[in-house]
Amino acid sequence: MDKDFLIANLRNIPDFPKPGIQFKDVSTLYKNAACLKEMIAELVKIYRDKGITKVVGIESRGFVLGAMLASELNAGFVMCRKPGKLPGETRQASYEKEYGVDTIEIHTDAIEEGDIVLIHDDLLATGGSMKAALELVNSFHPKQVFVNFLIELRMEGLKGREALGENTDLTTLLTLHE
Ligand code: AMP
Repeated sequence: MDKDFLIANLRNIPDFPKPGIQFKDVSTLYKNAACLKEMIAELVKIYRDKGITKVVGIESRGFVLGAMLASELNAGFVMCRKPGKLPGETRQASYEKEYGVDTIEIHTDAIEEGDIVLIHDDLLATGGSMKAALELVNSFHPKQVFVNFLIELRMEGLKGREALGENTDLTTLLTLHE
């Protein structure tokens, strides 16, 4: 995988959505056909022999590659969504944001005990949203759980990897330090 090529196609937007945040805009990676192909090929290489039966994507940027990857792995795709979006019966998990608390939901029939699950999102910052997704997925007692992000932000005060714990089977394609 050509990491420099991918990083060159990732757009940084300073001060979005508020002053001080360097927003990593994956839309420029997703719209580039060569980048899209390269990211999916790399993810397939990492996960093709793991027996994954379900890929869980976190709303909304985790849906894009998550669903493509599920299809490539012959797995099903499950959405983890913001409250009130899923029509069926759900279970919820909440997590701390910089200001206040956020919640995500999953359908109660989304995962079975025999599943091997990969949870995917675009970017790891504090790890709060993935920790909540892990709590939801683990509540189904699947056989095994893997976690993947396209991008890991390693900056002052961001300890996402640590927040997920060393027992989490985690991969990230790109690590950014600024
Ligand atoms: P966290 O729960 O803090 O790990 O935040 C991860 C979620 O917030 C991901 O779904 C990202 O899409 C989004 N996010 C957080 N910080 C950034 C950032 N600097 N650039 C782009 N997306 C971000």
